[in-house]
Amino acid sequence: MDTLKEPGSENLIAVCTTMLAYRRFSTCCDFATPIPRPDPSISASLDKIIAIANVLSAVERRLPNNLPDYYSILMLRREDAAHDRDLVTRQFKKLALLLDPTAATKFPSSDEALTCVQEAWHVLSDSKRRDLYHAQIGYQPTNATFWTACPYCWNLFEYETKYEDCTLLCQSCGKTFTAWRLQLR
Ligand SMILES: [Zn+2]
Repeated sequence: MDTLKEPGSENLIAVCTTMLAYRRFSTCCDFATPIPRPDPSISASLDKIIAIANVLSAVERRLPNNLPDYYSILMLRREDAAHDRDLVTRQFKKLALLLDPTAATKFPSSDEALTCVQEAWHVLSDSKRRDLYHAQIGYQPTNATFWTACPYCWNLFEYETKYEDCTLLCQSCGKTFTAWRLQLR
């Protein structure tokens, strides 16, 4: 009796490669995400495929003034990344590595995806360019804040994120303290 065999992950990767070649990026993304990862080389290939498919399907979306959605291109949520340059940097490095043009295994459109990621990084890593971009797409980030407590009088204070870990003067007891973030959740 014939046993029905599941198609191997290698074959599924070949299907993804074809989808990338035909520029079916969002289909490719949906298809690649649940593919089993029995070994590191398959896992590495899938990470690359998903990065290309995600980046290039994000490129197809347009924001006001016909501008690209740079946060989506970097696979970030705008609310998370608008205040967090380190997050933008980490994500850029991760994607640049996945889309490395000198890598032994290359998938269709990886160079194009890398160019888009570099363009997004160019804008979002520079505060002047980023602020202009926010204005052009009509996005106004709310000032992120955090809560801290004076360790001497235990008064609670809310500050803008830029003051995190800074030495501050307690507004109630007048002593200085380091503004560490209170985990309130
Ligand atoms: Zn105090």
